[in-house]
Amino acid sequence: ITGLVINMHDISERKHLMAELEKLSETDALTGTLNRRGFKKLAGQVFEQTRRKGQPLTLVMMDIDHFKGVNDKYGHAAGDMVLAMVADRCRKCIRNIDILGRFGGEEFIILLNDASLDAARNIVARVHSEIAASRVATIKGDVSITASFGIATVNAGALDLETAVRLADEALYEAKNSGRNCIRIRA
Ligand code: GH3
Ligand code: MG
Ligand code: MG
Repeated sequence: ITGLVINMHDISERKHLMAELEKLSETDALTGTLNRRGFKKLAGQVFEQTRRKGQPLTLVMMDIDHFKGVNDKYGHAAGDMVLAMVADRCRKCIRNIDILGRFGGEEFIILLNDASLDAARNIVARVHSEIAASRVATIKGDVSITASFGIATVNAGALDLETAVRLADEALYEAKNSGRNCIRIRA
C-alpha cells in the first residue's frame, strides 16, 4: 500500500510539473502576459464560445510608436521597462473577461469579450490615454511613449480568429499611416 501511495504521489507531481511547463510555454516572461501561442489558444476557445452564444467580440492590435528610438536613446533595459509598463496599463484598463497577449516584440493584442464596438472604443481609448500619460523613470531621464491601435469587431462568430487578427492588423496599419498615436477601426 505504501508503494501504491508513493506512486500516486509521483503521478500527481508529474501532472503538476507538466501543467507548470505548459503555463510557462504560454507566458511572456518579461510582461507576464500570454505570449502569442498562449493568446491564440485561449482566444480560440473564446471565439468558439461566442460563436455558439451569438455574442459580439472585438480584437485590438496595438503597437508602440517609434519604439526603436526608445531603445536607441535610453537603452534596451529601459525599453524592457516600457514594455512591462505598457502591459501593466493594458491590464488595468481591460475587464477580467478580456484576454491580453504580447503578440510580438512591441506589439500587443487584446480580445475584448462580449464587447460592442462602442464598449470596445471606450476601453481602447482608456488604454490609449493611460499609456500616453505614463512615465518610466530611467537614469537617462523619464521615458514617455505613445501607441497606435487597430480595432476589428466580429459579429456573432462571423469570422475566424485569423481573419479577425488580419483585420485588426490592417486597421493598425492605417493608424500608423495616419501619423501614429491614434485608433483606427475596421468594422
Ligand atoms: P513604428 O512607430 O513604425 O512602430 O516604429 P518602431 O520603431 O516602433 O518599429 P520597429 O518595428 O522599427 O521597431 C521595433 C523595435 O522593438 C525593434 C526592436 O529592437 C524592439 N524590440 C522588440 N522586442 C523587444 C524587447 O523585448 N525589448 C526591447 N527593449 N526592445 C524590443
Ligand atoms: Mg512600433
Ligand atoms: Mg512593431
